[in-house]
Amino acid sequence: MRLFIAINFSTETRERLIALRDELRLHSLSGRFSRDENLHLTLAFIGECSPKKIEKIEAIMDTVTFDPFEATIDRLGTFSRGTLWWAGLREDKPLMLLQREITHKLALCGFEMDGRKYNPHITLGREIDTDYALSKIEPFGETISAFELMKSELIGGRLTYTAIYERRGEDNG
Ligand code: ATP
Ligand code: MG
Repeated sequence: MRLFIAINFSTETRERLIALRDELRLHSLSGRFSRDENLHLTLAFIGECSPKKIEKIEAIMDTVTFDPFEATIDRLGTFSRGTLWWAGLREDKPLMLLQREITHKLALCGFEMDGRKYNPHITLGREIDTDYALSKIEPFGETISAFELMKSELIGGRLTYTAIYERRGEDNG
């Protein structure tokens, strides 16, 4: 199975992301735009993995230091010569440290991790043909109180993500 660890956003944040994606789509000739339910922030990409290893991954998720923190989406950017568009997150310490601890512990356990510098982003669409100008956006965000182990698969030709495990932060209430 194909796995990754991600943050999934609240309905409110998702709606802001959908609005950004739709604005971009309106100004594009073509592209494969992320479906509403697929908008997410990847913390660590694991890739093809045997189901036997899931327990190990869950144990790592359970042991990383994690308290709820604020995440802020504050810019748009592109990869792949301007064809992949994303909404970027402010590189705040709690987010960057969480990503670092997860990937470090996965690597220690033998999982192959992407060595490039982490660029926290939510993919809005791929193979996009547009001359939409990169713009500053009004920052928005939410308190992140959980992250999830996700399975990625094609179901009926559709890229589908399913959460199979969740790690919640401590409740301070
Ligand atoms: P598709 O590959 O069909 O365009 P996708 O990239 O969204 O769609 P997956 O390839 O299953 O779907 O990837 C799941 C998540 O992991 C996505 O957020 C993707 O950006 C991220 N990801 C995929 N491959 C890597 C990689 N080599 N390094 C870092 N992140 C990756
Ligand atoms: Mg991919």
